[in-house]
Amino acid sequence: MAPDRIAFGKKTLGNRLKHLKAAPEPCSRLAVAGWQRVLESTVSHVSGSQTMPSNKRLEDLKVFISNRDSRCDACNEALGRHAWIRLEGDGRAICLACADLDHLVFLPSGDAALTRRTRKHSRLSAVVLKWSRARQRYERQGLLVEDKALTQAELECAADAKTRAARREQAAERRAELDQAYIERFASRARELYPGCPEGREQEIAEHACRKYSGRVGRSAAAKALDDDALRLAVMAHIRHAETPYDDLLVRGVERGEARERVSNQAAAVLEEWQRGAGPSTPSTTDP
Ligand SMILES: [Zn+2]
Repeated sequence: MAPDRIAFGKKTLGNRLKHLKAAPEPCSRLAVAGWQRVLESTVSHVSGSQTMPSNKRLEDLKVFISNRDSRCDACNEALGRHAWIRLEGDGRAICLACADLDHLVFLPSGDAALTRRTRKHSRLSAVVLKWSRARQRYERQGLLVEDKALTQAELECAADAKTRAARREQAAERRAELDQAYIERFASRARELYPGCPEGREQEIAEHACRKYSGRVGRSAAAKALDDDALRLAVMAHIRHAETPYDDLLVRGVERGEARERVSNQAAAVLEEWQRGAGPSTPSTTDP
């Protein structure tokens, strides 16, 4: 029987419900109310027609995960708890082997791109549903699909992942270029304003300032950080850390405001010296 030709007519539904209600086996193992809902929705699906429309995808096939011990109505094999079964048109619950679906592989829900692609490639697929006692309804667990289709989809998704990674890399490179340009501008302006700054320090200060704005604020803030006031603050902060015992004071637990106050004269003197362009900096005074 072609899977897209399974009839779910209203008469069949009636028979099946009768079957479910009359016979304790196998329906007692399943939630009858749940089955009923599924059957009704299936019937409304094919309303009037005894067969699925030919343009209807095969994904409309449903496989149920039983919530109790089950036995296949076709081969009579004990399927154990949580068996995967298929409902036949005559109301029988049969195992996937008997339903000719056991060559399919299970793809759990969760990866939308992979699911969409797999479904596209899989000529035959079935929705896997499980009865949720808590929610009193069937919930989709995933799809049964052709192995080949899943592999194909996985390859496509992997290729995508590469593209996405490449795009991220390009963005990072672009960002690095922008940052590099910013650092150069900042450093060269610092050199202009503070000609006495020891060689290489302007680079250090510029890189620190760049790290500060990087990733946090927009380019406007970066541009703002290039004005002379902002630049002076950045140079001052550097001087405190590199040319005064400021860090040592902090390490010793001196409160930040007080530490700044204690080194302020020394820091101001260094700043003035750098501004004047009085040659190389005085030796570090960070020694206590
Ligand atoms: Zn069977």
